Amino acid sequence: MLALHGKGVSNGIAIGRAYVLKRERLKIPEYVVPAPFVEDEVSRFLAAVESTRQELADIRSHIPPDAPVEAASFLDTHLLILNDTMVSEAPIKDIRANQWNAEFALKTQSDRLVAVFEAMEDPYLRNKKTDVAQVVERVLRNLLNPDEREDEPIPDDLNGRVVVANDLAPADAVALKNKGIAAFITNLGGPISHTAILSRSLGIPAIVAVHGATRFIDNDEELIVDGKRGILFVASDRAVVAEYEKRAHKIERLQRELEALRTSEAVSRDGIAVQLLANIELPEDMAGVHQALASGIGLYRTEFLFMNRKTPPDEEEQFAAYVKVILELPGRPVTIRTLDLGADKRADIDLPTASANPALGLRAVRLCLQEVALFKVQLRAILRASAFGSVRLMVPMLSNLDEIARVVELVREVQEELRRNGIDFDPDMPIGGMIEVPAAAVAADLFAAHLDFLSIGTNDLIQYTLAIDRVDDTVNYLYDPLHPSVLRLITMTIDAAVTQGIPVAMCGEMAGDARYTRLLLGLGLREFSMHPSAILEIKKIVRESSVADLKRSAVQVMAARDFRSLQALVDRMNGDGDSTAAD
Ligand code: PEP
Ligand code: MG
Repeated sequence: MLALHGKGVSNGIAIGRAYVLKRERLKIPEYVVPAPFVEDEVSRFLAAVESTRQELADIRSHIPPDAPVEAASFLDTHLLILNDTMVSEAPIKDIRANQWNAEFALKTQSDRLVAVFEAMEDPYLRNKKTDVAQVVERVLRNLLNPDEREDEPIPDDLNGRVVVANDLAPADAVALKNKGIAAFITNLGGPISHTAILSRSLGIPAIVAVHGATRFIDNDEELIVDGKRGILFVASDRAVVAEYEKRAHKIERLQRELEALRTSEAVSRDGIAVQLLANIELPEDMAGVHQALASGIGLYRTEFLFMNRKTPPDEEEQFAAYVKVILELPGRPVTIRTLDLGADKRADIDLPTASANPALGLRAVRLCLQEVALFKVQLRAILRASAFGSVRLMVPMLSNLDEIARVVELVREVQEELRRNGIDFDPDMPIGGMIEVPAAAVAADLFAAHLDFLSIGTNDLIQYTLAIDRVDDTVNYLYDPLHPSVLRLITMTIDAAVTQGIPVAMCGEMAGDARYTRLLLGLGLREFSMHPSAILEIKKIVRESSVADLKRSAVQVMAARDFRSLQALVDRMNGDGDSTAAD
């Protein structure tokens, strides 16, 4: 049995067979290298071998100390193969003698080696051909340009399977959701990447940053995924399977207990009413919203309508997707966020989103204000949908006041067009903004003066405040919603909205994380928007809390002079018998 560790990003237990997603088939180019460049080609090959050596050493250094010895010996075998002259020197002869390009020389040598192993009598040695092929593939990947790789399509029938992948884009997660997967595991990734967020809102257990998962795990192997602890068991013995089946039942029981709160009010012991709203990505997510009886939608991430397709949805398609959600929630607010494409949320449609630092580039409202035609189609669809219920328009990633002015101007233009055509819309539709860039939080009073409501996007606010890429697993350890700088920005935003007399919500992952609910209540937050699966757990905490007491504790938290005492004060707020622990 092998236990691998990563970052658990979506609670729950799944037991199922692995499907290892090989995302890229390699297209091996074949060409003659002109004589004067042959030595450069040799250097290119040697550099790729060296990068591969470093990668393998890096994976080896990430093996947890308590992992079984097989984990390390597997990597040692790969390092030995890489160092063998048959792999690291023979292709050089072909590059020099035949003027072959490095990829073709390596692939030819690898085919020769695989043929030799295949002819061996000993089944153990015969199996070694897989190791050779894996090592060669690693070197080839280091040789090839990204555009020489070709994605393998995701197969259709993945029902009940645990998908193991190097990394998954949000668009992949949406596609996998529809194929009925039981859980997913990735080599890379972070807890607030959009892929991780999706796994939570879809209720799919998931572990990211399991270094080397795609190397250790073979297709069809039985896996146990513990999404809360971030542990993955491969080829488990019966006792472990039995233990995890017991745990899965316990989680189901606790979930049933929480369901008893479905129709109860989200009101604290001292009578403070709290709005518990849902974050959704697609109209299909509404089942979870009804199940939790959310007070409305606090964040409709419309960019997911634009993924897994080559052309953007037209006005009618968008209108239908918005109205579907609105009609399902009569009398309840539906906050539709305008397109937030860019950074890790990429679409196949032709848009100028790629740049050296995509998270700091043409993303969200910046992209929309550049692609005005695309943006106006969305505004028309949202405005038309506003005639059918209580719609709020929310603008992501605001960083200066001109962006608000420009969006308002475009909304007015679209309203005028609709009016001229006699098409209904809500003329009083509130226009709010996300506070997720530190610049907007620091000047939240100025932003509040020009907006009808604010919503704090802690995922990006933390990313940009602490300068940690939300999808980069090497800096995940720095992700900390309790960092005093983050807490100050949150407090400034809440206070600015209260002073301005406008509503303020939080729709980042922090809002659905039970460890922060009491502190946020104490800081004055009254609208929490989260993945629907978290709503009942947060409601339980609200109902058990005295907001007056939490306010006093929050004052102490904000006055803490060091990180450790701050954490201790938050722990104390949460109490020893934290009833939120679902497992
Ligand atoms: C956020 O940044 O907190 C947020 C809710 O937006 P997204 O996660 O979609 O970037
Ligand atoms: Mg965001």
